[in-house]
Amino acid sequence: MHHTSPLSQIYLDANATTPVLPQAAKAALGAMEDLFGNPSSSHITGLKAKSLMEQTRLRAKQILGSGQGNIIFTSGATEGIQTAILSALIKAKASLDPNKQYSLLYGATEHKAVPNSLAHWNQLLEIGAELKAIPVDDKGALDLDFIAAEVPNALMICTMAVNNETGVYQDLKALDTCIRDHNPEVFWMVDCVQALGKRPLALAQTSIDYAPFSGHKLYAPKGIGFVYIRDGAPFTPFIAGGGQEGGLRSGTENLPGMAALNQVFAMLLAEQDSAFHSLSTLVDYREQLAQALKRAFPTLVFNHSFDNSVPTTLNFAVPGFSSKEIMDLFDAANIRVSSGSACSSKVTRSFVLDAMGLPAWQSESAIRLSFGPAMTQTEVDQACERIQSAANALGNSCLTLSSGEASADKQPLNGLVQLKSGSSCSWIYADQESKQAVVIDPLPELDQRIDTLLQCQQLEPIAFIDTHGHADHVSGRVALAARYLPEQTSDHLGWPEDHQITEIGARPAQAISLGQYSLVKLATPGHTNDSISLLLCSPQGEVSYAFCGDLVLMGSLGRTNFDSSCAKQMYNSLKLLHSLIGDDTLLCPSHDYNNEFTTSFAAEFRVNPLLNEVINGTISMAQFELQKARLDTHLKDEAGSEIICGAYTGGCSKAKVKEYDSQSLQLQVSQSPQLKLLDIREPHEYALQHELGTLSEQTINVPMTRLVQFVQEHKQESDAEWVLVCRSGSRSLVAAQALHRLGFNKIAHLKGGYALSDS
Ligand code: PLP
Repeated sequence: MHHTSPLSQIYLDANATTPVLPQAAKAALGAMEDLFGNPSSSHITGLKAKSLMEQTRLRAKQILGSGQGNIIFTSGATEGIQTAILSALIKAKASLDPNKQYSLLYGATEHKAVPNSLAHWNQLLEIGAELKAIPVDDKGALDLDFIAAEVPNALMICTMAVNNETGVYQDLKALDTCIRDHNPEVFWMVDCVQALGKRPLALAQTSIDYAPFSGHKLYAPKGIGFVYIRDGAPFTPFIAGGGQEGGLRSGTENLPGMAALNQVFAMLLAEQDSAFHSLSTLVDYREQLAQALKRAFPTLVFNHSFDNSVPTTLNFAVPGFSSKEIMDLFDAANIRVSSGSACSSKVTRSFVLDAMGLPAWQSESAIRLSFGPAMTQTEVDQACERIQSAANALGNSCLTLSSGEASADKQPLNGLVQLKSGSSCSWIYADQESKQAVVIDPLPELDQRIDTLLQCQQLEPIAFIDTHGHADHVSGRVALAARYLPEQTSDHLGWPEDHQITEIGARPAQAISLGQYSLVKLATPGHTNDSISLLLCSPQGEVSYAFCGDLVLMGSLGRTNFDSSCAKQMYNSLKLLHSLIGDDTLLCPSHDYNNEFTTSFAAEFRVNPLLNEVINGTISMAQFELQKARLDTHLKDEAGSEIICGAYTGGCSKAKVKEYDSQSLQLQVSQSPQLKLLDIREPHEYALQHELGTLSEQTINVPMTRLVQFVQEHKQESDAEWVLVCRSGSRSLVAAQALHRLGFNKIAHLKGGYALSDS
């Protein structure tokens, strides 16, 4: 095992937040230790504080070109947004015509703080306006025709200067003309958070009424921000109290925050000696990073045009890789980037890219790389280098095809790989000795990944087989077979015509050989009448894995309410399969709805009483048919848009597994030396970084895609103490729960993962 020394972090997520510049931090510290006065105090300490505050305000005015407009300090942009919306809506409320239907307009790609605040105050103030999203085109530009048509009935319109996910900027001049031509009265807020230091602003020359800003997006600390209010725009204090900020925003001022901001402003205004680089330098940095990304991932696409975006944001997608996978990869390479934007559903996708009408895969694979104007050439060089090494690691684990030199560390693949797309599974079994492989239930979404793996490992596929005609998706089998096995004749599921006849459980069966192994076909109708199970038999004649399609799924049985289903047949198929493989052989189904990887009859008996009764013979075929039909009626409720292929038989409450933090884990290791650590990240993440203090010696890498093989090989050690680790502790928890379910009763995981470990 080779050790990679910990690499310093390369932070490329400036649009989320920035570090505080040393000069700004120093100024903040000064305002805490020396200039700590309350600006409202009339003694000298107070006066000094006040002077610092006013200097900061003056600089803000200069930078924003705010003319007669007001600058009020806030806690951040979200407060600025509330202030603007509250002020505008209270004013608008005073002269509502009860017979008119009003709207509140906001850009479809706005930060969620904007529509959410609009909805909140619209409801709280009982305004009853309709919220309408202004569409954007494929370059992210707001639809001016829509605005022209809708703005006459609007009370307020909210747009953004620069988008936080893509860096796309709006043409404020054109917007101004369009809005005012059609409604001179409407209140207009422009979220300028991502524009500060990146776009020229001359606010007083526009008709913008409100413009919120945030310090922590430009090297000042969190907790300080400011909002511009046009001279004459209505105003209602969002925070009332002691009358600070001329009564516009009460509460003792955040002097340390202002002191830091003051430093940042000084640098923005400085002609020289500034940590900030010119636009042309930043454009040059973007070019270098874009080139490095393209070199490392030749198929990469950018999700926005560089023509109308600030140079500090690059949003891209790599075909075949989800945001999460690239995030994990970059995190392991110690490059911090961000995925589009996290949401609560299973797939991370970007509503911003969706609004731009980009293809779904681009939205699901979106990665944002962003930097600030204080970026240096050295950092750009390091980032480019690190991006290349991350890509090489992907090549080594056969997720991309890389040229020659990168494949030096490539591990030959031997055994079972489980690939997933959503809740569906494809299985690849590779026999290293013969270099032969079989692919079962190949999903079309995984075509590229399977293809790359086969080529990278120089495997010779002998068949691509489906366990049944899938109802919920088209098979990826046909395309792969046409590419690799154009001469092969097979049945409609891909089972080769050229097979042997063997015997299993004293009955004849068809089989094909895979090196020393053989793959035996067993008709197991029920879910569909063409359903088969494939048994991988070792040279000793033992069944290592049973690929059972949708016959048995984790916690459930395949549904039997299709036209070609038959519960009676399923009853027989279950009995037959169990009689051939017994309680403990691993079942590898074609779906995994609940992140449980694999199962066995023994594991299912614990959660699936119906299956238990079938196998124990305590239920008749007719009773099974009846109960199964009842179970299948539940499918509708749980399915959502996806066709769920199995009926849940019970709840899916997860086991509570033991959790360690890095301290208690170190302690446990010193007390029980037999304890073993399983790093379950993908090999490319592991190769890039696997330091866990002194624990590295006990660690082996078993990626999630190889977890089922691990279970098969360690079945006899279910009492051993394994501690699972990953990046953040979320994958390790899921895997630990799955292993616990399979009988590994001393399984534990490292809560918080590598992210919170000491090294
Ligand atoms: N608007 C935009 C465009 C942003 O990027 C952010 C920060 O994520 C906000 C508003 C909210 O800013 P703050 O964190 O200062 O409340």
